[in-house]
Amino acid sequence: MPIVIALVALALGWSLDAPRGPHTADPGAPHTATPSAPRTVEHDRSPRVAWRDSVAVGAPGAGRLVRGVRLPAEGRSFFTWDPILRRRPDRDWRRWGTDDLVRTTLRVLRRFHRRHPGAPRVGVGDLSLRRGGYFGAEVSGGIGHATHQNGLDVDVYYPRLDRRERPPTSVDQVDLGPSQELVDRFVEAGAITVFVGPNLPLTGPAGVVVPLVNHDNHLHARFAP
Ligand SMILES: [Zn+2]
Repeated sequence: MPIVIALVALALGWSLDAPRGPHTADPGAPHTATPSAPRTVEHDRSPRVAWRDSVAVGAPGAGRLVRGVRLPAEGRSFFTWDPILRRRPDRDWRRWGTDDLVRTTLRVLRRFHRRHPGAPRVGVGDLSLRRGGYFGAEVSGGIGHATHQNGLDVDVYYPRLDRRERPPTSVDQVDLGPSQELVDRFVEAGAITVFVGPNLPLTGPAGVVVPLVNHDNHLHARFAP
């Protein structure tokens, strides 16, 4: 009977080996019968990302993430930072976003690095949980997030004047030039909101670049689904 189905399929011009569903197998999911290796794309010198079509469900403050993509732990242009353990890299389970968010973030960081090849790598903090959802204190294990629930939010630490690869701990440690450039680049890349520190002179289009408490050491970029 399968032969008959195959012949019918061929007669109708179907491709029997066309990929279906997500581009790649989820590394954590049971293996499928697909014999080919996951399609990976080299986005930086080292990070490789298992791309798949993600879906952001609901809102940043009440949502979830379907088929998320994990941001690599580090690359030539960036490192990730665990805001709870205060160390590099950020833990795997805190680095999931939509494919669009991860692609855009990597592109912004790569272009920033190309423009400033001698600059320190930029620090990236939390995105969302693998399946999104509540990322508050009980889940985060410390200061959590009211949003970051549907894979469209990313925290990016302002570069430090002393060039150390860690978040600033006070506003006078923030290197304002590159910080403003990062804000501009995220706006240019299509962020619908960029939260910035109210005690820093960072600016941007009204209604897009928005001062918000607790953002004096990082910007928070949000994208539309
Ligand atoms: Zn945030």
